[in-house]
Amino acid sequence: MLSIAAPIIEQEEIDAVNQVLKSGMLAQGPKVAELEEAFARYCGTKYAVALNSGTAAIHCALHAASVGPGDEVITTPFSFIATINPILMTGATVRLVDIKPSDFMLDPVAVKKAITKKTKAIIGVDLYGQPYDYTELASIARDAKTTLIEDACQAVGAKYGDKMAGSLGDIGCFSLYATKNIMSGEGGVLTTDKADVAESAKRFRQHGMTGPYEYAELGYNYRLTDLLAAIATEQLKKADAFTAARQRNAYLLTAGLKGIKGVITPHVNKARTHVYHQYTLRITKDARLTRDELLKVLKDKGVGAGIYYPKPLHAYPHIARLGFSSGDFPVAELAAQEVISLPVHPRVTEAEIATMVDTIKEILHA
Ligand SMILES: *Cc1c(COP(=O)(O)O)cnc(C)c1O
Repeated sequence: MLSIAAPIIEQEEIDAVNQVLKSGMLAQGPKVAELEEAFARYCGTKYAVALNSGTAAIHCALHAASVGPGDEVITTPFSFIATINPILMTGATVRLVDIKPSDFMLDPVAVKKAITKKTKAIIGVDLYGQPYDYTELASIARDAKTTLIEDACQAVGAKYGDKMAGSLGDIGCFSLYATKNIMSGEGGVLTTDKADVAESAKRFRQHGMTGPYEYAELGYNYRLTDLLAAIATEQLKKADAFTAARQRNAYLLTAGLKGIKGVITPHVNKARTHVYHQYTLRITKDARLTRDELLKVLKDKGVGAGIYYPKPLHAYPHIARLGFSSGDFPVAELAAQEVISLPVHPRVTEAEIATMVDTIKEILHA
């Protein structure tokens, strides 16, 4: 089976872990500091704070933006559940707005309409590895005096013009989960140019700690370990090479799949660098098979395609309960029925791409 994701562990990662094990310092220490410095440099931000998940990074970002009960946070219904759960953790109100059909990301026009006096933050997602509409969202956030949080969990290395993902907002959030473009099994990073945000995140990851046994506020244990930071630092050195391989694979897929009836290949917006965390097709009603039928046949033929995401977020019971219903976000709801992602990671070979293309053409009688 050609898998949808494959973490790449090489000798460098193994050596880095061994070094930490031999040092005896396994918790947050010098390797975390090293990762933070390298990550900030890579993203072009002043600060980076290492955390133990992308979810923790988003929670820290919302806390730094002083989001709490009575505030509203605008976000997309078409993302991973971890984009939205941290909003609920703060006690704030979720304001969902629909996406654009072209790239499946937040529609700035809809975001602008959803702004109220209570809007405290906007969380945009660089979905599948392509930066969101940074210029439009940043201008809306500025006018509304709200914090723009970039969920860049899928987008390490992506660019908007020359600006790196993680710097496309007031606060950037990354995940180092095993399936992400660079990874350490579990992990996360928050990026920002603001000293007070970085300090807030450092307190929040450690019980609100301000000094030895001094706790100024509520916090959590969101620390990353040196073992995982050592892996992530090695991965970060390879990020651009991983991205180049993903981009080559995506280019070959798009060239091969162009012009098939009912198949829409990924749309890349002008002046944006897509890092293809996922290579996602839309299978419309004009195709010979439905998306689900195609998924099944592909799996039978050894192609581990995936659906990101099979349901919009407002379809999950704990979100629906907040007052959303089916039909509220028709573009996101249709996307959830039509998207399918093909293996695009660096380990996928040119020959495997050719086989995938032939298989899809055969199935869809193209
Ligand atoms: C992976 C991911 C997250 C959460 O990251 P974890 O490290 O799994 O907590 C958040 N948002 C998006 C869009 C993601 O893909």
